[in-house]
Amino acid sequence: MTYDQRKLGVALVGLGRYSEGQLGPALKETQHCYLAGVVSSSEEKRKRWQAQYDLPGSNLYNYDTFESMAANPAIDIVYVVLPNALHAEYVVRAARTGKHVICEKPMATSVEECQRMIRACQEAGVLLSIGYRLHFDPFNKEMMHLGQDQVFGNVKRIIADDSMTLEKEEWRLDGALAGGGPLMNNGVYCVQAALFVTGELPVAVRAEFSPKTKPDLFRTVEEGIQWEMEFASGKKALCESSYSKDGNLLRVTAERGWFELNPAYEYKGLKGQTSEGPMEFPTIRQQAAQLDDFALCVKRGVTSRVSGEMGMRDVEIMMAIYESARKGGERVTLHLEAYQDLIEL
Ligand code: NAD
Repeated sequence: MTYDQRKLGVALVGLGRYSEGQLGPALKETQHCYLAGVVSSSEEKRKRWQAQYDLPGSNLYNYDTFESMAANPAIDIVYVVLPNALHAEYVVRAARTGKHVICEKPMATSVEECQRMIRACQEAGVLLSIGYRLHFDPFNKEMMHLGQDQVFGNVKRIIADDSMTLEKEEWRLDGALAGGGPLMNNGVYCVQAALFVTGELPVAVRAEFSPKTKPDLFRTVEEGIQWEMEFASGKKALCESSYSKDGNLLRVTAERGWFELNPAYEYKGLKGQTSEGPMEFPTIRQQAAQLDDFALCVKRGVTSRVSGEMGMRDVEIMMAIYESARKGGERVTLHLEAYQDLIEL
């Protein structure tokens, strides 16, 4: 398939808060793609998005008509923005329509689901990317550079905390739909950060669940979790993620200094500091940069730097973190050699 100079059409699947607040607005700013269609079970939402984004009626779908996207040349990329446990089903269905696919984080709720998603995309000959927006953010890219290029010498220790207060029932508190608690939702950013700052793969993890202070709310997912990631070089990452406090830190100690982001994982307003002074970068819309990067990958036929394999790697690490926490903090080893070639910088 050739794409010449045109902008690629993206269809958003699931018109919840992230689509509404971030991805829709980002697709008004993108240079290489635009919002071409939506998939939602709600007619009211489809109509509202149609009016807001000037979408033709032929590009509005529900979950039953989803497959007919296959015949719609206006849609090149399907972006799955549903609760985590639905990612696998909809990525596989999207791949079978012959469209390229972006899947929100976390990629899925098990490694087996990730394998099925990757296989379906390979069989259909389409590209798969994960919604890891921070790889396109200037502050986080600087953290990758400072760590991997050893600007302050060898990295010794990483502290990462991505926590938020959740007080109301929603699918994120339903283990069956979320696949886990704050680790799956926010903790994936800490896992990502530890890997992109070091440029290394962890060899083992140890983890502990925090005591539940609100057992009525956190019935099927953890309320909080702390974990340590151990790298072959001796580096350590100490991480935490909770639904009962706020936290947004990435702090790195190296041989000759330190560097940190606080907040680190937000959409905007990130602040960076090093032992030599503040970091100065423009605020960009991360999602627009992420979407444009994937559109260019599709046009050029190259794998995304935030690929399905990267998403699966992170799910594998999170599953090991859960295993350790369930076993009361036992050291769980990881064998991630297959992921050695993933581009981090
Ligand atoms: P949300 O609850 O606001 O929206 C979820 C959407 O899925 C709703 O439109 C809902 O109608 C639809 N849906 C379909 N089937 C459903 C079901 N069985 N139960 C519940 N909802 C169902 O959630 P959100 O915050 O938009 O999150 C969606 C996905 O995006 C999640 O995977 C989340 O992790 C991810 N996300 C990523 C970021 C990021 O920064 N990359 C930020 C927020 C959310």
